[in-house]
Parts: sequence; structure tokens; C-alpha cells
Amino acid sequence: MTIRVWDYLPEYHDEREEVLAAVAKVFESGQLILGPSVAGFEAEFAAYHGITHCAGVDNGTNAIKLALQALGIGHGDEVITVANTAAPTVVAIDGAGATPVFVDVREDDFLIDTDLVEAAIGPRTRALVPVHLYGQCVDMAPLSRLAARHGLAVLEDCAQSHGARHHGRQAGAMGDAAAFSFYPTKVLGAYGDGGAVLTGDEFIDQNVRRLRYYGMEDRYYVERTPGHNSRLDELQAEILRGKLRRLDAYIAARRSVARRYTEALADLAEPGGLVLPTVSPGNEHVYYLYVVRHPRRDDIIERLRAYDIALNISYPWPVHTMTGFAHLGYAKGALPVTEKLAGEVFSLPMYPSLPLERQQAVIRALREVLAGL
Ligand SMILES: *Cc1c(COP(=O)(O)O)cnc(C)c1O
Repeated sequence: MTIRVWDYLPEYHDEREEVLAAVAKVFESGQLILGPSVAGFEAEFAAYHGITHCAGVDNGTNAIKLALQALGIGHGDEVITVANTAAPTVVAIDGAGATPVFVDVREDDFLIDTDLVEAAIGPRTRALVPVHLYGQCVDMAPLSRLAARHGLAVLEDCAQSHGARHHGRQAGAMGDAAAFSFYPTKVLGAYGDGGAVLTGDEFIDQNVRRLRYYGMEDRYYVERTPGHNSRLDELQAEILRGKLRRLDAYIAARRSVARRYTEALADLAEPGGLVLPTVSPGNEHVYYLYVVRHPRRDDIIERLRAYDIALNISYPWPVHTMTGFAHLGYAKGALPVTEKLAGEVFSLPMYPSLPLERQQAVIRALREVLAGL
């Protein structure tokens, strides 16, 4: 059997009764859209973060897009983020009508290089979108200072960092608003698509609620455009309520998997060779992904196929080099660290229910492959 980088089936088999009970509860509730399950999940997800407002939406991409629009950002505005991210971060900024502006990342933790942000701020800059990539947080203090000085909004992209902390503060509670995805692979994942916008600001929350509901406040009356139909589904919300109660246990399990990799591979790590993930100061990593680097990444992945191990690359193409974003005008070489990482990173299997014997098989295979390079 192929060992995959992610698999929800062992977890489903453990939690089947609970998941199916949630499905039955919604089907029997008599209310299938924006009912008690979405409201319940929103209240519980907000409370988990100690934040006043949460609006459930249909996915993480639209969480970013609606949050930007709720902040009043759109055509003619620039939004600073990274090209070393899942493309949806940038798709959402573009979808809100704004222009993405990229800054490079740091080589140690792959996160936005906060020293480069100020030079990217111009007269049209309206927001910063830090991405808490792979499960650990961006260094927020310098970004908050810049945002205050230049009057910019801060929208955290928390799609990979549910439950992560930074100097004791939770991912999603450090900006003006935060966007979450509940895509199945994420640290808090649904059995389908889902997303949410967290904010401490009632005005932003109200705007997101209108935008997700055709731009309506009351039924059949449009208050503002562009409206969307971007609601979180009752079914996914009820399943997510059960999974939210287990979130801390999932994170603990992810950390155990990460610790085993780090202990088993530490002796092979060397500068210019295999590089294991690091945790930056003040961070409590939740290991959405366990990402390692090696200059001969492609050879390693190819050879691991013989062991029936299928690894992922997150992400093989920096966003600024994609054809779809050619109009932004970034030349190859514009973001040297981002481009270097794209050629070297790969992810080892990581999910809370990863069976120990599968993880050990991956470690053994990787050790053999590295020894034979
Ligand atoms: C997954 C992801 C998104 C998009 O979320 P979807 O629910 O798939 O739309 C956005 N940003 C980052 C960093 C992601 O990992």
C-alpha cells in the first residue's frame, strides 16, 4: 500500500460514530442553511481564540477575499504578502480586486522577511497579509508596528496554523482579522470545504456576514455589492464542532509525529544537505506540514517511489513565477530565497492518525535513499 503524505481514513475509522451522528443531527434539524450548527460552530471557534466574532464561510480562499472586501479593500489597492505560499492566498487578493505585492521570505523559517516589508509599502498599500506557513507564526511585532505607522490593515492567513501560538498569543488573534480554511488536510479539517473569518471588530464581522449572503442584511434586500454566496454549510459546521473539541489532541499528536522525525533524522542534518524544520523564537508550531529541504530533492522523491512512498512538494512553483500572475510583472530572480526554497523543499507524511509503522517505514526509506545519493 502506498504511503501518502496525508490520509484521513485512520482518523475517520476512529471517529466514525461521532461524524455520522453529526450528519444525522443536521439532516433531522429541519434547517440546512445558516442554522444552529453554523451559529454554534462560529461561537465555539471564536471562544477557542478568545475573540468576539467569527463568520463561517465556504472556504479559506473566500475567507481571505471577503475579509479584504469587508476591510474596504479592492480595485486600485495594493496588498503585501509572500509568493512562498499556497496560491489561494494570492488568488484571493486578486479576487478581491486588489494587486498583490510580494516580499521575499527568510531562509530559516520560510516566513515573510519582516525587514523587507517597509520598502514594499507605497502610496496604494492598504493591507499586509502575513501567512503563518506550515503551522508556525510570522514574527508579528514588526508588522504590527509598520501597519500602525502606515495606517495598514493586517489580515492573518491562518489556513495552516489553527491552534498555533506566538509569544503566547493565538494565530488569528493578532491582526484586524484572520482567515481560516477547513479544507480536509488542514489542522482543523472538515469533510469537504469550509472557512471562517475571525475578528474582534463588529463592523468587519457584519460586512463579512453580508458579503457571504449576496450582500444582503435582511432576506431579499441587497445592501452592498459585490455580494457572494459564500456560506459555511450546516453539515460541515456540525462535523467541525466535534473536531474542534479534539483540536488540541490533534495538535499534540502532530507534535509527537514531528518529534519522532526530528529525533530519527537529526544525525543526517547538515548545512547544504538535509535541513530539518526549525521553530522560530516565541512560536508553538502545530506542524500542518513537516517540511524538510535538500538540494537533491527531486532525486530523493524519485527514489522514494520505489518504496511506495508518495511525498508532496509545498510548493513547487513560487506564485510570482506562475503564468496566471505574469501580469504582475515579477521577473525570475526577483525573490531569490522563495525561488531557491521551491527547488529544495518537500513534505514528509504528517497527520495526527499517521500509524507509527508507516512513519517508521518512511524514516527507514529516507535514511537508505540519503545514504545512497
Ligand atoms: C489552504 C490554504 C488557503 C485556501 O483555503 P481553501 O479552503 O482551500 O480555499 C489559503 N491560504 C493558505 C496558506 C492555505 O494553505
